[in-house]
Amino acid sequence: MYTRPVLARKLPLPVIAGPCSAETPAQLELTAACLRDEGVEWFRAGLWKPRTSPGCFEGVGEKGIAWMQEVRNRFGMKICTEVASAAHVELCLKAGFDMLWLGARTTTSPFLVQEVAEALSGAPVKLFVKNPVNPDRKLWAGAVERLRIKGVNDISLIYRGVSSFGETLYRNDPCWGFAIEFRTAFPDIPFYCDPSHIAGNAAYVPILARKAVDLGLDGLMVECHCRPQEALSDSAQQLTPDEFSAMVRTLAVRRPEAEDACCREEMESVRRRIDVIDDDIITLISERMEASRQMGRLKKEAGVAILQTLRWEEVIGRVRMKARNLGIDPAFVEKLFNEIHEASVSEQNSIISQL
Ligand code: PEP
Ligand code: MN
Repeated sequence: MYTRPVLARKLPLPVIAGPCSAETPAQLELTAACLRDEGVEWFRAGLWKPRTSPGCFEGVGEKGIAWMQEVRNRFGMKICTEVASAAHVELCLKAGFDMLWLGARTTTSPFLVQEVAEALSGAPVKLFVKNPVNPDRKLWAGAVERLRIKGVNDISLIYRGVSSFGETLYRNDPCWGFAIEFRTAFPDIPFYCDPSHIAGNAAYVPILARKAVDLGLDGLMVECHCRPQEALSDSAQQLTPDEFSAMVRTLAVRRPEAEDACCREEMESVRRRIDVIDDDIITLISERMEASRQMGRLKKEAGVAILQTLRWEEVIGRVRMKARNLGIDPAFVEKLFNEIHEASVSEQNSIISQL
């Protein structure tokens, strides 16, 4: 049973929250009322739903526009929905939506991004661009560029994980490395995280949200429903208002730099030490690559095959053991060495194929 706080709380960072889909006026009203009490100022709900399989609930469409306007009028929240075509954009602009988002499947299609960019051209609306379903940095960056060319300037990004093959813990792979790489390439664009679509299950949303906040991302988009078990889409991953309330209370925004001068100085000195270690790592990798090339030349002369699986198993076994003894995760070290091995095999391949 959700208990209303006496005064609306202040959230520690910007959060867009609301149901996956708008279903009924009452569902929107109840969810929005609870979220408003928790300090949410930006309310989301999908009107047109891009579903993986046909025959699923595909959203209430245009008739939900008036329900969203009602949320804005009653609770003073800004309203936000997903657009994937010029027709969606035109309807939403006419209805005065404050914010819109491009879904992961739409960002994947340059035709659709172009169509939306042209329809949005010059409109005073905030646009959130989700990452494409596959971890393709150029496709995401290309979408942002297409929009900017058409004068869509108030852009923020939302990271929602990427699709993966086979059974996994989360619905989408968090692949934080991809998020960090993109955030670093576009430091000036506000970067949000959608832990709901990464998780696929309400139980994992808080831990992913905390991770995003600890990384220093700028905000969150979270799916929340007054009765998730009755939701017509993404039922498993939507938080109840109570769960949302408990989660936001555990979020502690970290500052970009330490306030204390001594601590800042100490951090600076550790950073210098890390720089020196990184330089040493690069030097060692370069020496290792030179040894690989020398081995490639010997294999070429002796007509020996590049791939020596027994030898490779021995190398991996040894580094895993060493990692374990030094208290490093052996799986991490194995991943690292697989990359090194791949590069070394490719060097030897080019040596052997030279005439
Ligand atoms: C959504 O936000 O409801 C949605 C469909 O998300 P995504 O595009 O990230 O799958
Ligand atoms: Mn959803």
